[in-house]
Formats: sequence, C-alpha cells, structure tokens
Amino acid sequence: MTTTNTLHAVNTIAVIRPLTGEFADSRLELAFRNSTWEQVVRQQRSSLLILAVLVLAFALPDFVAMEAGPALWLLATYRALFALALLVGIEALRRAPELGLHGHLLMWLALLGYPFLFLFCALRPELRMFNIATVMVMQIGVFLFWPIRLLLALPVALLGAAGETLCIGWFSADLNDTLATGFSVCMPAVLGYFFALRLQTTARQQFWLSQQLQFVNHELSGEIARRVALQEELEHQATTDMLTGLPNRRAFVARCSAELARVQRSGEALSLAMLDLDHFKQVNDRYGHAAGDAVLRSVGQLCTHSFRGEDMAARVGGEEFLVLLPGCRLEQAAAVMERFVSTLAKTDIDLGTQTLRVTATAGVVQQQASASLDALLASADAALYAGKQAGRNRVVLAPALVAG
Ligand code: GH3
Ligand code: MG
Ligand code: MG
Repeated sequence: MTTTNTLHAVNTIAVIRPLTGEFADSRLELAFRNSTWEQVVRQQRSSLLILAVLVLAFALPDFVAMEAGPALWLLATYRALFALALLVGIEALRRAPELGLHGHLLMWLALLGYPFLFLFCALRPELRMFNIATVMVMQIGVFLFWPIRLLLALPVALLGAAGETLCIGWFSADLNDTLATGFSVCMPAVLGYFFALRLQTTARQQFWLSQQLQFVNHELSGEIARRVALQEELEHQATTDMLTGLPNRRAFVARCSAELARVQRSGEALSLAMLDLDHFKQVNDRYGHAAGDAVLRSVGQLCTHSFRGEDMAARVGGEEFLVLLPGCRLEQAAAVMERFVSTLAKTDIDLGTQTLRVTATAGVVQQQASASLDALLASADAALYAGKQAGRNRVVLAPALVAG
C-alpha cells in the first residue's frame, strides 16, 4: 500500500507494508510509534490490569465447582502466577515506559497466558465449549484490544489456534470436533488480523498526512517570512539613498507633507533648509568621481549626527540635501544650519591618500499660513541661490512666504 503526498513540493512517497500495516521506512515507523507511544503504554497497562482481574475473578467458579485436589491446586497456582506476572508487567511499564514502545512485553505475557487455557481444557473437560469460546474471544482480542504490533500478535494467535486445536483433538479424539475447533479458533484470528491491518494502515496514513501538513505549514511560514523581509528591503530601497544611507526625495516628500498637514492643524512652527555643496563639480574634476562619492558619504554621516531625532535630512539630488526641522522657527533653524555649515567647513574628509574640506550653502525657510510644500521648496531654493550669489559657505534666510 502506498501513500503519496499531493501537497509536498518534493515528490515523496511513504510505503506501508501490506502484511504488517507498518511503514517500510524504519525511521518513519519509529516516529509514528513515538507519536502515540504514551497513549499506547497507558492502554497496555490497563489491558494488563483488566486481564489480571479476569484471571483472578474466574478462580471463584473453580473453587465452587472443583473438588479440592491436585487439579484445583494446579489451576489455582497457574492463575496466581500468571496474575502475578501481569501485575509485574504493569509495574515494569510504570517504571520504564520505554518497554512498551515495541510491545514485546505484552506478547510474552499473552504467550504465557494461553497455556493456562490449555491446562484448563485438560483439567475441566465439562467446560470445553466454554474453553473454546474463551479462546475465540482471546483470538480476536489479541488483534483488536491487545495493544501490540500486528507482527507480535501473530505468534500469539498462532499458539492459540494450534494449542487449542491440539488440546481438543487430544482429549476428544474426534476428528470432527477437532476440525470444528480449529475452524472456530482460526476464523476470529483471521478476521481480527484483517480488521487490525486496516486500522493500522489508516492510522499510519493519517500520521503521514499530518506530517506532510506540518511540513507544508513550515515551508509556508518560511516563505511568508522571506516575502516580508523582501518587502521590507524593497520599501527600504524605495525610500533610501543608497550612496549616503539618508532618506531620499520620496521619503522626504512623504514625511514633509504629513508634517505640513499636522502643523497646519496645530499651528506649531516648522522650518525647512535646502543645502547644496559648493563647487562640487571641481571636487569630481580634481579628485575623481569616487572621491566625490566619498565626500557625499561624509556629508551624509555629518547629517546623521548633526540633527535631532525628530528632524529629517535627506539627499534629494546629486549634491543637494533637504533638512526638515519640525518645531523650529526661522531663527532657530538658521542657527542649526549655521552650525552645520561651519562644522562641515572644518571637517577633514579622508580620501585615503589625502584629506579634503568642502563647504556648503543653505537656504532656510519657515512654513507660514497654509503654504504648500512646492512654495516652501521654491522659497528655500531662492534663498540658496542668493547664498551662492553672495559667495557660498553661508546660510541665507528666505523672506516671509506668501500663502498658496
Ligand atoms: P555650486 O557651488 O554652484 O553648487 O557648484 P557645483 O559644482 O556644486 O554645481 P553643479 O550643479 O554644477 O555640479 C554638481 C555636480 O555634482 C555635478 C555632478 O557631476 C556632481 N554629482 C551629482 N551627483 C553625483 C554623485 O552621485 N556622485 C558624484 N561624485 N558626483 C555627483
Ligand atoms: Mg553645488
Ligand atoms: Mg547642485
């Protein structure tokens, strides 16, 4: 019998042996048994207890019906020893539950129990029909209620069928009786075997499917995590300037629009600065484009360390930066930018073989009334242009904005 997994991305197959109902793959079989192990051991202990109670309870009719003598004592002794063996088995399973994983203990106890029934058959001939009926029940019970592997139930059933048939044949010496007994004790075993085979196979198929489901769930969780990480990476790339690591124009516009809307409601101050490196083209021309990139990275680092957490500095063009300063009036923003421009002018930028200094010019504007972002940018740009015209390396304040 074969179970194929339709959900599994990899085409895996679990083979279930047709005669034992067990997985052909021993590791899979062990995993299955481990998954039900604790429950099976509990069942094994209860089965042993029920059998011990029955064995002891049926001693009573023996004492009532039989005369005191060697036959009664022989039966009673076997009963007592067998019941003791069952109780020892229960205790062994309690102390070392791993004994129950394969079911050998229950197999040996069942093999020990059958000779008692044969002895009973020999010593109480008047109850032979009852004895055959008991063996019939045991034959089906060993497959359906005795919690051991199918493979281990087979020798027990074989002993039951052969032993009982031989017993009846020996004591009745009647061929018909013997054949009828053989048939009666074999049929329940055959039925029990096929029924148990079906149960075992179904249980393993369900186990296999649940394993596959867990595997697919695990794969799906991994895929979701990968996609979330990818989405975060894409969002980061879409809003970050890769050279400096600063936010890019898109991120700046989004944040600035939100801040403008907020301060228009709250009436708080908000300023914006546009900063442009001076004569940057000459840096590229003199030291090379890579050196120009290194300068841009250094300016980016200075931006990261120079402004407050609520401020936002972004690289929005080649060597152009915008700084958003929420909560700052024009003079405060100008002071912040003055400090930045003068720090930049004094910063040695390491190019490996030499160092370099650059300057920048900034235009600063304060948001007023309901001025739009475009109006703010245009005003800051005009102030920046004025700063360039006036000789660079300075901060210029924009005049009051006209709302629009
Ligand atoms: P000004 O003082 O008037 O601003 O002069 P400038 O030379 O800085 O102005 P201009 O706009 O003429 O030059 C900007 C230069 O910036 C031109 C371009 O080659 C350089 N640039 C733009 N983006 C990058 C970049 O990503 N890396 C490098 N190394 N250079 C860049
Ligand atoms: Mg420039
Ligand atoms: Mg420029």
